[in-house]
Amino acid sequence: MPVITTNSPEETAALGRRLGELLLPGDFIALTGDLGAGKTQFVKGVAEGVGVDPAIPITSPTFTIMNAYEGRIPLYHFDLYRIAGDADVAELGFAEFFYGAGACIVEWSERLSHEIPPERLVIAFSHEGETSRCLEFTPVGQRGADIIARLFPQLEQ
Ligand code: ADP
Ligand code: MG
Repeated sequence: MPVITTNSPEETAALGRRLGELLLPGDFIALTGDLGAGKTQFVKGVAEGVGVDPAIPITSPTFTIMNAYEGRIPLYHFDLYRIAGDADVAELGFAEFFYGAGACIVEWSERLSHEIPPERLVIAFSHEGETSRCLEFTPVGQRGADIIARLFPQLEQ
């Protein structure tokens, strides 16, 4: 599966923007990785690609858990850092977003267990150096594979 190194915050956002341009209602993008690994930086680009007004600030919804942005489609941006490991999505009321009219992008998706949607694209972020980050793309289900194929058409399928 594709493993990409970015060498600046701008490069990470640019990759996110290309993903955002492809997103459709019902898509679920799961972001994993430590604090500072670049997840929110990536989401900034995704929001731009979805067509969210660039004047809207994109920040980690650590305390609010979810921010909704309106673009070509709705984009639901979650940060589950403060959610306990066995969080019950039904109890938290996430289902209306996870299976709703927009695309979801979820920081700290490792906080979700069996409640995570079965079709998704997982992007694992890790620190490589001060300004370099590693992004590993793993599809779960057909839609994730389709997104990867469109994002990286140069790769052999
Ligand atoms: P997270 O949401 O994963 O906690 P953030 O996106 O909020 O991380 O923060 C990433 C930090 O790392 C930002 O301060 C950003 O400027 C910096 N940074 C340095 N190099 C990169 C890179 N290649 N990609 C993304 N962020 C980077
Ligand atoms: Mg963040």
